[in-house]
Amino acid sequence: MNPYLAIVLVALLGGWLLRLAVDYLNLRRLSPLLPEEFAGVYDAERYRKSQEYLRETTRLGGLRETAADLLLAAFLLLGGFPAADGIARSLGRGPVSSGLIFAAILALLFEAAHLPFRAYRVFRIEEKFGFNRMTAKTFILDLVKGALLAAIIGGIMFSAVIAIFGRLGPAAWLICWAALALFQIFVAFIAPAAILPLFNKFTPLPEGELRTAIEDFARSRRFRMKGIFTMDASRRSAKSNAFFAGFGAFKKIVLFDTLLKKFGLPEIVAVLAHEMGHFRRRHVLLLTAWGLAAQGLLLFLLSRLISDERLFAAFRLENASVYAGIILSGFILSPLLWTFGVLERAVSRRFEREADRDGADTPFGTEAFVAALKTLAADNLTHLTPHPLKVVLEYSHPPVLERIRLLRSQASQSF
Ligand SMILES: [Zn+2]
Repeated sequence: MNPYLAIVLVALLGGWLLRLAVDYLNLRRLSPLLPEEFAGVYDAERYRKSQEYLRETTRLGGLRETAADLLLAAFLLLGGFPAADGIARSLGRGPVSSGLIFAAILALLFEAAHLPFRAYRVFRIEEKFGFNRMTAKTFILDLVKGALLAAIIGGIMFSAVIAIFGRLGPAAWLICWAALALFQIFVAFIAPAAILPLFNKFTPLPEGELRTAIEDFARSRRFRMKGIFTMDASRRSAKSNAFFAGFGAFKKIVLFDTLLKKFGLPEIVAVLAHEMGHFRRRHVLLLTAWGLAAQGLLLFLLSRLISDERLFAAFRLENASVYAGIILSGFILSPLLWTFGVLERAVSRRFEREADRDGADTPFGTEAFVAALKTLAADNLTHLTPHPLKVVLEYSHPPVLERIRLLRSQASQSF
């Protein structure tokens, strides 16, 4: 058997089984008993609701992944790839345009398969549990804007990669790597000004007690930033959050309007202190560097794979091409990509625990941050007792009860 076909099939089947098993274990850990820590945060009814929400979203996710995996398996085994390549070759006038058509066919097909599940999630599940604020119009507009953005950015990047690999051969991965790094820095700079406003409206936080408190705190931590904004997140979802956009001295603090409604001043400052902790401790920089290193390795491997004829044979393509080689390598490298993700999330959980120390270190003390964590968890109907395997494989943050326990033990040690 073709070794690449074996890798794809094993990854597909293995990934599917692993995901179903982990989700099954995770749902079994749902307990009707509310953890003591959350007494007073949830009432019995809301806690029951949160469990039902998890059950429904998990089931839908399982169905969605099963459908996507089946589609890919059928496409692979029934000759979908050579058919798509045939269309791309007959319509395209060169490697770049053929490549764009080939990629567009695959992207449209797999996006279309995900679409009904996304709509069901937003308009049935999120709606039922009171999260959804999206109208059909916002949903469709988001979809169109997202698709256009992906087509433009993805199209430019993919064309460039095809051209570079077509001309430069084995050294192309290094050029692509450098270009990718520059591109990411560019996007990080322009996203707050040019991309995010396509989806949301940003308003400066008005003068007042909250603004003064945030500015005072930022100054006390020597934290440089360029303004505090609120974002109309409530147009889409009732869930709350806060984040920083941009970097360096150009960082903007963005608060979801939903956060402002549900959180008091001490909790908001504590949440921001946690976020500032990520910057102060260089977490953002370290994760970016890790991402770049992983991308470099993947690009290097890709450059070796695309000159291997067996890769094309595995997908039943008669003609080798740079564009198909790039996309097909993606399927071969996906287990490695997944492994990198698991490692990255382990690092991220560690960073979260570190930043939590900063969240507790405000004039309002540990309990303000704990209160914020609880409200966020209850608000987003978080699984309070997830299965450890689920945490290891998928969580970028430690489970909320673990974070609270750690914060409390740190607080008691410092006295
Ligand atoms: Zn964090």
